[in-house]
Amino acid sequence: MKIALLCRSPQLYSHQRIMAAARERGHDIDAINHLRCTLDIASHRPVIHYHGRALAGYDAVIPRIGASVTFFGTAVVRQFEMMRVYTVNESVAIARSRDKLRSLQLLSRKGIGLPVTVFAHRTSNAQEVIRLAGGAPVVIKLLEGTQGIGVVLGETPRAAESIIQAFGGVDTNILVQEYIAEAKGEDIRCIVVGGKVVASMKRRGREGDFRSNLHRGGSAKAAKITPQERTTAIGAAKAMGLNVCGVDMLRSNHGPVVMEVNSSPGLEGVEQATHVDVAGKIIEFIEKNAKPGATKTRGTG
Ligand code: ADP
Repeated sequence: MKIALLCRSPQLYSHQRIMAAARERGHDIDAINHLRCTLDIASHRPVIHYHGRALAGYDAVIPRIGASVTFFGTAVVRQFEMMRVYTVNESVAIARSRDKLRSLQLLSRKGIGLPVTVFAHRTSNAQEVIRLAGGAPVVIKLLEGTQGIGVVLGETPRAAESIIQAFGGVDTNILVQEYIAEAKGEDIRCIVVGGKVVASMKRRGREGDFRSNLHRGGSAKAAKITPQERTTAIGAAKAMGLNVCGVDMLRSNHGPVVMEVNSSPGLEGVEQATHVDVAGKIIEFIEKNAKPGATKTRGTG
């Protein structure tokens, strides 16, 4: 097969591993910087120009689109879909997963366990929002944040209110969530590939930090998950329509609750913690599923 890996930094561990896994299995794989693609959408035959040539002959695309370039990145994925090239995660599903609020709404519709979450645009009713989220302590999140940036703990009603008002001052969208104290700064990340959990790890925040993101100095080790956690992770991936994703959950005293579903999960932490060849699982999934025109949306979404 000829595979396109859409990414900006081919030297990153995850991308190196995906390319190595594809080559080990006898495939051709090219790293294509989606930001350097030019989309020709005026003609009946959609074309992607890249470094002065038209991209052709690809059987599958692995999109690794960074959160800051979702708009253009998903347009490139959509163009591949219009060219009837199979994509591991479809453009619509990637765009969906990038919108925290929309993701939570989709998950809630499917009955997936979630922390109590309240979203409001106006901040004049901060007290009401805190009350609806179950009262302080609450977690306040910027809708646009990633890697734990913009996730703040409002420990007391006063602190929570000031944080909500401060975010209101810069006119940004936030959501306010029940604080799952019993998770004790730990979360579970399951990597789902093709409707199966292939690897799971437990992440723990830096001493004194309730956020367990590895980018924030957290550490990871392999985790044994419960059947309920497995079902939740698979259900979340399905609700989002993602074939490959990382599902982040907290162990709450009302069962597993999903915080986020990530369409380009980093592989370094999870492969090192679990010794699972996640990159290989992704390539094997493509081998089984990539057929011309096998995307459902084909750029119409
Ligand atoms: P990001 O998308 O920026 O990573 P998350 O929503 O995943 O933001 O939050 C970052 C970290 O903060 C999580 O991994 C988790 O450890 C912690 N966290 C987030 N929400 C809650 C919550 N409601 N209760 C307890 N801890 C939380």
